[in-house]
Amino acid sequence: MTTLGQNLKIDGDRLWDSLMEMAKIGPGIAGGNNRQTLTDEDAEGRALFQSWCEAAGMTMGLDTMGNMFATRAGEDPDALPVYMGSHLDTQPTGGKYDGVLGVLGGLEVIRTMNDLGVKTKHPIVVTNWTNEEGTRFAPAMLASGVFAGKHTQDWAYGREDAEGKSFGAELKRVGWVGDEAVGARKMHAMFELHIEQGPILEAEKKDIGVVTHGQGLWWLQCTVTGKDAHTGSTPMNMRVNAGLGMARMTEAAHEIAMAHQPHAVGAVGHCDVYPNSRNVIPGKVVFTVDFRTPDLEKLTSMRSQFEAKAAEIAEELGLGLEIEPVGHFDPVTFDPGCVSAVRNAAERLGYSHMDIISGAGHDACWINDVAPTAMIMCPCVDGLSHNEAEDISQEWAAAGTDVMLHAVLETAEIVA
Ligand SMILES: [Zn+2]
Repeated sequence: MTTLGQNLKIDGDRLWDSLMEMAKIGPGIAGGNNRQTLTDEDAEGRALFQSWCEAAGMTMGLDTMGNMFATRAGEDPDALPVYMGSHLDTQPTGGKYDGVLGVLGGLEVIRTMNDLGVKTKHPIVVTNWTNEEGTRFAPAMLASGVFAGKHTQDWAYGREDAEGKSFGAELKRVGWVGDEAVGARKMHAMFELHIEQGPILEAEKKDIGVVTHGQGLWWLQCTVTGKDAHTGSTPMNMRVNAGLGMARMTEAAHEIAMAHQPHAVGAVGHCDVYPNSRNVIPGKVVFTVDFRTPDLEKLTSMRSQFEAKAAEIAEELGLGLEIEPVGHFDPVTFDPGCVSAVRNAAERLGYSHMDIISGAGHDACWINDVAPTAMIMCPCVDGLSHNEAEDISQEWAAAGTDVMLHAVLETAEIVA
């Protein structure tokens, strides 16, 4: 019988070969990938993944959102499956590992179990969640969101890309509409392996991030209105400058995040200035403030402090102000049992590890609402992601997948 010892590891070369093989589909222009959701390239990547799963003896299930579920049978017909998964779709200028590592790492776990002849009580499922990135069809984590009951399927089907093509029509066109009702599956647990997409693990020289929390988020879209006027001939005391208002509010967002340390961030990442002309004082500015923290109280407090401060600034400068919330997630606390399984695995394997908070959204954040869930992170070079230059080492990929192997086997219970 296989036991969870320090030597129980996946095949790092085989994992790497699969990652490189998948990266050939939908190549980018600078060494990364452009395999956006529900494109022909996405369909090709799915087909390759399916062929690998079937070669590993798994059975493929497909739901009405195109989520893929490859199952390795367990010994107890009544036991709920343990899931592993992430996403195969990429940003338009994406890397080779964001999402893909979590799916192909899951496949490598199954291949390793097959090599060893391991039998588990619970079935094990490897999942590819549709449209995690949300670039082509907003929002991100769309299909896991429908699975977890956050959005309706009708709403998701109606999301449109920049050319006006709908998610539902494109899913059908690429031939990946399944007949399973989305969200009908029950889960014993779910594990998502993902690259960190931040610089902490590399800087701290840790192999493994044990993800305990996911950040909550508010996106506040602010419309500041003043009066367009000539920058040369309008006296300073007669200006109603929406650009100045935005500048002060941007600084306020920064100050408010600084006042909520530790584990709180805030910035203005998007802004449109009207009319955006060198010699016109801006009459209108639309910008979005992004606040994130894993602490619900801090999240609420940052939003309300910003709203109060922005109103004060607008009043002082004689500007109109409207604030509309356009994005929100509550902070996520991952399942303590699953988190322990990840930490135990890293410990047993002798990998350096630290607890970490996920700065980005992931499918696991939604699934955590309907099943015990945890995430494993591995470092990425310079914290760079959503960039074709995104890079990880083969050793990091293998270590993260080793940890997932142990956490999943502990959870799925080895019987032979
Ligand atoms: Zn991702």
